[in-house]
Amino acid sequence: MSMANRRDQKKEKQQRRPRAPFIAAMLLSSLVLTAVLAWQAQYAAHSHRSIAEGVLRDYAALAADEYVRRAANQIGYYGYDPLIKSLMGHVQTLDRLPTLPGFRAEADDRTRAALELVRDLFLVRFDSPASLLYTGNDPEVKSWLANDFPHRQVELQKASRGFLTVHPTLGDQPHTFIYAPVNGDATTLAGFELATDALEGWFQSAFQRAPLLPPSLAKGNDTNAWIGLTVYDPGGQPVFRSIHAPSYDLEAERAFADAYGGILRGMRVVASINPEAASHLVIGGLPRSRLPVLLGLLAVASGLLAAAVLQIRRERALTQLRSDFVARVSHELRTPLTQIRMFAETLLLNRVRTSTEQQRALEIIDKESRRLTHLVENILQFSRGDRGTLTLAPRPRNLAPLVSEFVEDFRPLAHHDGTRFKTRLEDMVVPVDEDALRQILLNLLDNAIKYGPKNQLVSIATLRVNGTAQIRVEDQGPGIPESERERIWHRFHRLERDALSPTDGMGIGLTVVRDLAALHGGRSWVESGSEGGSCFVIELPMAAPEEREL
Ligand code: ADP
Repeated sequence: MSMANRRDQKKEKQQRRPRAPFIAAMLLSSLVLTAVLAWQAQYAAHSHRSIAEGVLRDYAALAADEYVRRAANQIGYYGYDPLIKSLMGHVQTLDRLPTLPGFRAEADDRTRAALELVRDLFLVRFDSPASLLYTGNDPEVKSWLANDFPHRQVELQKASRGFLTVHPTLGDQPHTFIYAPVNGDATTLAGFELATDALEGWFQSAFQRAPLLPPSLAKGNDTNAWIGLTVYDPGGQPVFRSIHAPSYDLEAERAFADAYGGILRGMRVVASINPEAASHLVIGGLPRSRLPVLLGLLAVASGLLAAAVLQIRRERALTQLRSDFVARVSHELRTPLTQIRMFAETLLLNRVRTSTEQQRALEIIDKESRRLTHLVENILQFSRGDRGTLTLAPRPRNLAPLVSEFVEDFRPLAHHDGTRFKTRLEDMVVPVDEDALRQILLNLLDNAIKYGPKNQLVSIATLRVNGTAQIRVEDQGPGIPESERERIWHRFHRLERDALSPTDGMGIGLTVVRDLAALHGGRSWVESGSEGGSCFVIELPMAAPEEREL
């Protein structure tokens, strides 16, 4: 074998190698790639969201820090400071504890503005004998001031602003005392009990006084409207809540701790940011989850993949059918050709002994050449139908004589099997293409003989049904199972029993019949015959009453 030949063979082998697995692998890879991309996109959206949430939490912390500083300063500087200074003034000048009304009456302007914070006044002396003066009459407070309060004396050394606050819980109720040393060695302490309810107003005014976030962030908006803020007392009870939705997920907590010398120690602030404000505070806002969209896209990609795989399988099946078809066509054509050649040779070589034998040989040649013509005609029609180039020229014709003529033409082919024909033909004018009608009828009669028993009776009828013309061909064969009655009209489709039997067939005869009937504007189907065989029906539209046969 020459080199060039071998190369050609190799090339051919490569071309024939099935490409479907390769294509399927590529499609699968593209699906995996889509899934990876979807995952990446989801991951990116998720981390974008986490970053944005982190930024909003930082802003919440910023607001809480600012609030702690501002509220402590305001309450300390405008509240506790003037009250303690004024009280010390009174105690030092009078050397005794003023009465509440006396204290109120003599307060200067600054002190007067803070008076609402005072519930009661007290003065404790640790000299012996120790003594307690207290303007209130709560026995629990009184007892605490007399017995527990002296222990606070030591802490005063730490008071950076000259006074301290203490928050004891007395009989389930939280109390706050603000106190300072009256003399240098702190043997006498004076102070006041805080009217806790009054603090709410002070916290409110600290909140409202100015925006808690830097104005540069706000771009003209009131940032406090986006902030939910709650102040908790040392017992964990809310003392103040801002009106704007007080609790969002994105929150930060800050303790008052040492702010303004620790005057609000033990209290804490929780600030949160409304996520709807995200678009103002973070570039791009809080991204929504892309999961539904991504899952949707993935589903579409999987659907497309499934469709592509299905298409590939169909293509493969069709390719297989086509190659089977070519093999079947060659086989179908070879049988009559062999017969014709054989009997022609017999005649040519004068091998026939009697005139009856000669007659039979000629009949066979005639039958097989008709069969050959019919086969070729079918293949041509089929390929025209396949390419969409099948056209007809219908003319109004009386069906009865036409059908009768075609049946007669077919008799020599049927004669061999002992098949008899019975016709019941009603006259009616139908626009038909003569050649197409012949093809239809030949295919149906050919099938009736091919699949039916020997010596059967095949009935052919033309009749009027509901304003249409019907041609019915009924045989005494095995019939068509209900489930296959539609599929037999599909190209290359043969019943399993016939595909496996030696009966020749290309699987295109009925496809041609249906195509031709449809080109006449008609329909075709198969029913059960009255004697268990099949009854093939072609329904054609009738000619308009004014149309006469041409
Ligand atoms: P084929 O060349 O195989 O006859 P057709 O398209 O004409 O192709 O028919 C398709 C299939 O329908 C046949 O293979 C056969 O299985 C079934 N069929 C057609 N006509 C008949 C019939 N008269 N009786 C029983 N089966 C039939």
